Amino acid sequence: MTTPTIALVAHDHKKPDLLAWSERHKQRLAEFKIVATGTTGGLIGEQTGLAVERFKSGPLGGDQQIGALIAEGTLDALFFFWDPLNPAPHDPDVKALLRLCSVWNVPVACNLSTADLLISSPLFMSQDYKREMPTY
Ligand code: PGA
Repeated sequence: MTTPTIALVAHDHKKPDLLAWSERHKQRLAEFKIVATGTTGGLIGEQTGLAVERFKSGPLGGDQQIGALIAEGTLDALFFFWDPLNPAPHDPDVKALLRLCSVWNVPVACNLSTADLLISSPLFMSQDYKREMPTY
């Protein structure tokens, strides 16, 4: 069985939340391959010691790199703490990433409470839950 891949992304004002969350769930997160946008990934790797594969920073294409994983069928979940109170220069990329999660039925958590519940679920990445893959 291959190790599931999860992606972590946080906009600047949400990075403290995602960092604290990553620290809290460090043990569980260590079971997965973690990819992240550049700055988010750097901070999480530094703070938690988890191995993180870093893509480009979000505004420079990192969101789209994660979207490419979804389109290729190699991303299993996304934790995306986007900022609802500040405009992002790459808003179209943010929307595209969220859209692809819906297109491919990828579990996506966009805030702290959903992220807590998703990562704590006994069904998360378990053999007992098979994510339906759309066929289109
Ligand atoms: P960053 O990108 O992790 O490089 O800050 C996140 C984003 O803005 O999408």
